[in-house]
Amino acid sequence: MQYKAFIDEENCIGCGKCIRVCPTDAIVGSKQVLHTILPQFCTSCSNCINTCPTDCITLTTLGVALSEQEELLLTEKKQQRLSRNQLVPPTILFPRSMSTSSATTQKDRKQSIADAIARVKARKNLAN
Ligand code: SF4
Ligand code: SF4
Repeated sequence: MQYKAFIDEENCIGCGKCIRVCPTDAIVGSKQVLHTILPQFCTSCSNCINTCPTDCITLTTLGVALSEQEELLLTEKKQQRLSRNQLVPPTILFPRSMSTSSATTQKDRKQSIADAIARVKARKNLAN
């Protein structure tokens, strides 16, 4: 059975760390908003799981396995894109409706990140 990564939407804080470590560009999302995984490109490498600060990524049994050739091709494409982008600073995309300068928005964002981390901690404490 082929395992695929899956993001628990309730606890994703949109930090973008998972996107940076995914070798096949299987994760999509903008900074500060929910991220999601395209199962057809996921190779179950677990990089994203190990890097997620809120532990909101798990492996599930959805999807079909990529061939080794397809996996290699996607990884090469990502490497090429990263090399091309080395000359320009990384771009952070925000939805048009989301103001990045409003103090209230910043406060709300910090609060929702703190809430998500608190939920994960509470879950971990319950499990112990
Ligand atoms: S498990 Fe690996 S391939 Fe799948 S989404 Fe996470 S980093 Fe990408
Ligand atoms: S690393 Fe976790 S919290 Fe951050 S964007 Fe990815 S899934 Fe969401």
